[in-house]
Amino acid sequence: MQIRQADILQILDKKIFNLISESADTLLYETYVIGGFVRDLVLNRPTQDIDIVCVGNGVQLAQEAAKRLGRQARLSVFKNFGTAQVTYHDLKVEFVGARKESYQRHSRKPIVEDGTLEDDLNRRDFTMNAMAICLNKEHFGKWIDPFDGLKDIENCVIKTPRDADITFSDDPLRMLRAIRFASQLGFFIEAQTFEAVERNKNRIEIVSKERIVDELNKIILSPRPSIGFELLDQTGLLEIILPELIALKGIETKEGIGHKDNFSHTLRVLDNLARTSNNLWLRWAALFHDIGKPKSKRFYPKTGWTFHAHEFIGMKMLKSIFRRMKLPLNDNLKYVEKLVSLHMRPIVLSDDEVTDSAVRRLLFEAGNDIDDLMSLCEADITSKNPEKVKRFLFNFKLVRSKLKEIEEKDRIRNFQPPIDGLQIMEMFHLSPGRIVGELKSAIKDAILDGVIPNEYEAAYVYLMQLAEEKGITKPDNEYSKIIQS
Ligand code: ATP
Ligand code: MG
Repeated sequence: MQIRQADILQILDKKIFNLISESADTLLYETYVIGGFVRDLVLNRPTQDIDIVCVGNGVQLAQEAAKRLGRQARLSVFKNFGTAQVTYHDLKVEFVGARKESYQRHSRKPIVEDGTLEDDLNRRDFTMNAMAICLNKEHFGKWIDPFDGLKDIENCVIKTPRDADITFSDDPLRMLRAIRFASQLGFFIEAQTFEAVERNKNRIEIVSKERIVDELNKIILSPRPSIGFELLDQTGLLEIILPELIALKGIETKEGIGHKDNFSHTLRVLDNLARTSNNLWLRWAALFHDIGKPKSKRFYPKTGWTFHAHEFIGMKMLKSIFRRMKLPLNDNLKYVEKLVSLHMRPIVLSDDEVTDSAVRRLLFEAGNDIDDLMSLCEADITSKNPEKVKRFLFNFKLVRSKLKEIEEKDRIRNFQPPIDGLQIMEMFHLSPGRIVGELKSAIKDAILDGVIPNEYEAAYVYLMQLAEEKGITKPDNEYSKIIQS
């Protein structure tokens, strides 16, 4: 592959590069744009992240460049790391002095010293990430590619610049980065590099969960996440990081009846979903949707294999997985729990006989996530029989229209029962407790079952009847006056 000098000059013909170039010459620092930006330039992938390395003081260079860029530039200095960042419009430019890293067996932290450009390229993870372009005026646009990264990009190959065992042992996260790039770019991991991942897989345990999750997120967000997860599996990394997914593997056969391999099914669901949604947490939900299957698996001679309640068992497993992986234990977890626990529900709704009440209940439980749930269910169709796929998709289309019809009629999605617990307590002078809860959910159920409309007055009358039946008396107060007037 040849990269034309004219193309490089055209890409560098931007105010930002010209001013960095001037700054570098003023300070007499050899300066380069390096790493991901250079790789993505070859791959024609748009990127707003620019990494600059100078042989000198990176913070000083950033200050000089920020001065020239003027008021629209924002400078942040990270003193402890000797780096600085300049944001300028939508660009994020990182400045750092060239460094040499040496790792020692007994310590995770490298010894970092000032170094040359060559030292700096030597410590990088892959040949395609170890290319640079000079920004000093005298050699402006000069391409530096000591490890033939350009050739590897042309051949779609991911390969470490130095001995792969040393590269991975020094910073084991690089193993995940290799797999992430394979998944994002559709590249192959070169054989020796792959074997080194297999050999060094256990070292992943010294990497922080946050860094691991960053890479997993990138795999999950790639166009075909199954590429990444299959590589994680083949290298043995998945067993260490997410053993719950490995437990989905395999087909058991009894009395001539087998079930599907839930690992490959899961990956197909994730790929299907990746075609229709970029929502990271919906994709995590797809990855985990059947995670409860191994624990719920039973064989009955008459019916064959069942995975009864796997959606609830799966939902219950999520919190501890999220906690272990340092995934957010906030609304993101709740959202994934909701989707996993509800993923079997729309199937039942596709039945002709389905009642409005069942549709309302699903709308109520899924709330605003109902469309995401339907996308997950559609992605969950992985039958190899095209007729079946067509029929299932058609059924879900019916479910979607039933949901739409009932939602338009009853506005259930974000519905809050018109009388809440606090009001019930005030009306009957009750303290918090079981009775309040019972009355509250009776109102909710009556609305969802269509016994009463979703309105205050109807709910009030219903509540009074119920209270009377239960022998709860109501002191005279303003509520009764309002309703009587
Ligand atoms: P992306 O920005 O898509 O996540 P990237 O390769 O640009 O991918 P960055 O974190 O932006 O990743 O890093 C920029 C460059 O720094 C890389 O291209 C690579 O040269 C180097 N680099 C990043 N992480 C590592 C690492 N763990 N080991 C060695 N070099 C690394
Ligand atoms: Mg980058």
